[in-house]
Amino acid sequence: MSRHEPIPVTLVSGFLGAGKTTLLNRILASDHGLRMAVMVNDFGAINIDSQLIVSQTQTTVSLANGCICCTVESDLIEQLGRLLDDRQNRPEYIVIEASGVSNPSKIANTLRYPQFREALAIDSILTVVDAEQFETLEGEMAQLAMEQLDVADIIVLNKVDRVDREQLDALKARWFYPNARLLECEYGEVPLELVLGVGRFTGGWSFRPAAAVQAPVLATAQEDHAAIFDTWSFSSDRPLSLKALRQALSTLPTDIYRAKGVCQIAEAQGKRCILHLVGSRSEIKPEEVWEGEPHTQLIFIGRRGSIDGAALQAAFEACVAD
Ligand SMILES: [Zn+2]
Repeated sequence: MSRHEPIPVTLVSGFLGAGKTTLLNRILASDHGLRMAVMVNDFGAINIDSQLIVSQTQTTVSLANGCICCTVESDLIEQLGRLLDDRQNRPEYIVIEASGVSNPSKIANTLRYPQFREALAIDSILTVVDAEQFETLEGEMAQLAMEQLDVADIIVLNKVDRVDREQLDALKARWFYPNARLLECEYGEVPLELVLGVGRFTGGWSFRPAAAVQAPVLATAQEDHAAIFDTWSFSSDRPLSLKALRQALSTLPTDIYRAKGVCQIAEAQGKRCILHLVGSRSEIKPEEVWEGEPHTQLIFIGRRGSIDGAALQAAFEACVAD
């Protein structure tokens, strides 16, 4: 096997709805001049994020049906191996977008397995934080979001336009570690040179409190992040009424944190619409013209036990336009 320089890897983490895909799209759409591979993880059965990634010439690897740090770790290993073995298109840079529930330090551990140790070099763990949502998370959700923040080499504090200066300063003072590079932005608009190829990786644990550093960092795969959540998806090939859809979204149980996907809207025929719901905020935006058959494919993510599939099915079936 020929020798290669290690490929830099940026791990993009952040809780459900923080804005990871938006940031990733910014990176991909920019003039980075690199042969890039992106690996996108959605823990639902449908990988919506890979559909929301801007289509560029890069290799996009989709890891669905589980959390990249636990349930589909073996998939990650296999796919990374495939990228490294590809002589013709060996990537010059890899960006891994973890699912919103993944623990990035566990992914960092995977990247340090013997077979990858010389082939890959983690550039940074970058954690996207939703300025508005972060402090509203509770229990296991808050804990997951904190874990993602704890190991961040770079914190992208996103959606700063939605909170006032005082709230923002309080959030930073309470939760952020001074060592991490902090970038405040809206819509994931960060200067590329501050996030790619920056060599900020510090090991995935250096910001943790001393007590935590004592604990072995090598995580076991026993924890299953996907198990904390339930997902549900809705598909239809008939157009939906915008008004009815908005209504259905506004009456979702509050334990459904996140919904996303593409939809076909009667009022915007011919246009692919992108739907995002984060907490109580939702947005449906018409995008470009459909490539292929118009359809609706939505995924919902909620706390385990919060999803009543039959009720949701009825609610969204009722959105189909006459
Ligand atoms: Zn996991």
